[in-house]
Amino acid sequence: MTARRLLLLGPPGAGKGTQAIRLANQLGIPQISTGDMLRAAVAAGSEIGKTAQAHMDAGELVPDHVVIGVAEERLGQSDATDGFILDGFPRTRAQAEALDGLLPKLGCKLECCIALTVDPEELVARLLKRAEIEGRADDNEKAIRTRMAVYEEKTEPLIDHYRAKSILALVDGLGEVDEVAVRITAALG
Ligand code: ADP
Repeated sequence: MTARRLLLLGPPGAGKGTQAIRLANQLGIPQISTGDMLRAAVAAGSEIGKTAQAHMDAGELVPDHVVIGVAEERLGQSDATDGFILDGFPRTRAQAEALDGLLPKLGCKLECCIALTVDPEELVARLLKRAEIEGRADDNEKAIRTRMAVYEEKTEPLIDHYRAKSILALVDGLGEVDEVAVRITAALG
């Protein structure tokens, strides 16, 4: 049976969001993107949004306790009981440990961590292109470079965290969206 509790890990611009949405539709489970939820909080002007905005615009991480609260709340909702795809969470060791503590309480565990690998320079080019199309506030070159550095320092080490749990699948993220989607499906068996 295909795994239904998934995590997509990868550097900014690797196509996590696109692939997460496709997979969510394919499997009939929700995509849980902390980036999307935080942007919605910023747009709504909530307390969380006010805390998050400056960090996001600079390309830095929003503090762990804020993001962990957002993710916990979302994972506890009824549509996530039958599966979910985490997209952009966890991003730090503290977040991964919080998730490790939370999932047993929800009566489930992660079944697969798909880590997308893409050459960093390719990613910067992709993000600058997306900046022109979507106009996201954090898609300027300085913020992009910061996001890459933060990824390498804080998030990339999580690959080992999931490798140690024997649920890691490394997937080449270079190529057309369809090609990468095929690789992900193959990795999920
Ligand atoms: P990308 O992967 O392209 O950087 P996201 O939409 O996943 O985009 O995230 C955008 C921003 O939202 C991040 O740069 C960060 O400021 C914030 N963010 C999202 N998820 C997290 C998280 N798990 N921990 C801390 N900050 C987060």
